[in-house]
Amino acid sequence: MNRFLLITFGCMALLACNNSQKSGPTTGEPGSIFFTEFDTPFGTPPFDRIEFADYRPAFLAGMKEQTAEIEAIANNTEAPTFENTIVALDNSGRLLSRVSRVFFGLKSAETNDSIQALAEELSPLLSEHNDNIYLNEKLFNRIKTIHDDTTGLNLTTEQYRLMDEYYKSFVRSGIMLQETGKERLREINKQLSALTLKFGNNLLKETNNYQLVIDNEADLAGLPEGVIAAAANAAKAAGEEGKWVFGLQKPSWLPFLQYSQKRELREKLYKAMYMRGDNDNENDNKKIINDIVNLRIEKAQLLGYDTHADFVLEENMAKTPENVYKLLNEVWAYALAQAKKEAAELQKLIDAEGGNFKLASWDWWYYAEKLRQQKYALNEEELKPYFKMENVREGVFTVANKLYGLNFKKLDNIPVYHPEVEVYEVTDADGSHLAIFYTDYFPRPGKNAGAWMSSFRGQQVLDGKNIRPLVYNVGNFTRPTETTPSLLTLDEVETVFHEFGHALHGMLSNVTYAGLSGTSVPRDFVELPSQIMEHWAFQPEVLKLYARHYQTGEVIP
Ligand SMILES: [Zn+2]
Repeated sequence: MNRFLLITFGCMALLACNNSQKSGPTTGEPGSIFFTEFDTPFGTPPFDRIEFADYRPAFLAGMKEQTAEIEAIANNTEAPTFENTIVALDNSGRLLSRVSRVFFGLKSAETNDSIQALAEELSPLLSEHNDNIYLNEKLFNRIKTIHDDTTGLNLTTEQYRLMDEYYKSFVRSGIMLQETGKERLREINKQLSALTLKFGNNLLKETNNYQLVIDNEADLAGLPEGVIAAAANAAKAAGEEGKWVFGLQKPSWLPFLQYSQKRELREKLYKAMYMRGDNDNENDNKKIINDIVNLRIEKAQLLGYDTHADFVLEENMAKTPENVYKLLNEVWAYALAQAKKEAAELQKLIDAEGGNFKLASWDWWYYAEKLRQQKYALNEEELKPYFKMENVREGVFTVANKLYGLNFKKLDNIPVYHPEVEVYEVTDADGSHLAIFYTDYFPRPGKNAGAWMSSFRGQQVLDGKNIRPLVYNVGNFTRPTETTPSLLTLDEVETVFHEFGHALHGMLSNVTYAGLSGTSVPRDFVELPSQIMEHWAFQPEVLKLYARHYQTGEVIP
């Protein structure tokens, strides 16, 4: 499930922020727009003024600025203190953070060939920059001095955690290795960074390159009206007016598998999805996966771990691969029995229809939908009118209001990177400003698959001022058509609530230091706020608040 995304490259997420301005182009030159805090309402990114030409110089200047800041900390002649070392490190790289968050936010949600190419060009530079910080021995020695003896420092719990997180990050980045090990690690990081990027780029290309074009109306058999209308729209957009286009974006792909009576077309569309990156073409990911796996093993072992899983899990609540397998195996026994039971039920349906074939993966959704209609007289298409996107979002906001006293006000004066993006100001129960919240809900060719949350600016207290976050949710939900608004499936409704739970985690952040802000928590904890939120989606008293038929206004029965 790719519902959550952090903008990170290595340990960069732990690094943010200083408002000093030491190098780079002067105002008016490309990149300069990133040089100071944005002069927009709430300091939101001025998407209407940022040009592609701004990114490269801003990245280069941002790395240069942070390098100078790091050198100043490392070469400080005063004895290391929490302030002159840990806080100074935490506040470094403010310009780099500003441009990175905008650039990588767009790379996921609204990319194009130029952004993809620049990301590939920057990848080795950012990897090297990151290693230059985390393999800086003078800097580490200062952190280690603080870490090894905190007596008399009177660190608060938050300060101790920040210091300890940085210490661990340096150790996990290889600072204790001999010189040859460090050199090899730099090379591995550079390659991993490039390969991971390439993997994602290939996947996006494979997703966008595939189209199932239908020109024979009979091949639409079984599909609901709304699904057909959306496919006609997609065809129009693809220059195939009068035909119907289905693709690999979920709102197009899933209903086809759920409703199409054409088994051979279901198979075609299903395989297109699962063969992405495995078509022996220029977007093939097989060798890339192989290389990534090998490099990860090598890196883990270089750092003293048995496997990549050991390396990753050490910093998560699960701690060890054994714990992960223990949980998975417990679930597996029950899940397998249940899946077999369901498969047998679906096979019965196939046999009853006289279908002389064995249930295959591309039949599952289709017959599951039939079974649901048979068993519960419940047709997902009949439910969708109760889940208009705007109503669901209103439901999410209402729940946040009832639980946490938050209020949401739509803003029309905030620059956005695409006309479909909407912006809200979030205020606390006492009316004080809490966050800016962007929503970007519909699939586009420049958007990665899935749904996620991240931020254009994190929360922190800087110079006594509580800087509030700019949080966003991005998704790939069912588009409106010319005649109907966006009507969501149950799964989509749950995802809207889920992602909003992540957004809340970011919005409600109230820490001092950037390195501990928002969702900077173990990966297996980060799903807690989102899962709590998604449980509210279908509670009867919550449904009453938002699940109204978009035409009649009637509350869901
Ligand atoms: Zn999640």
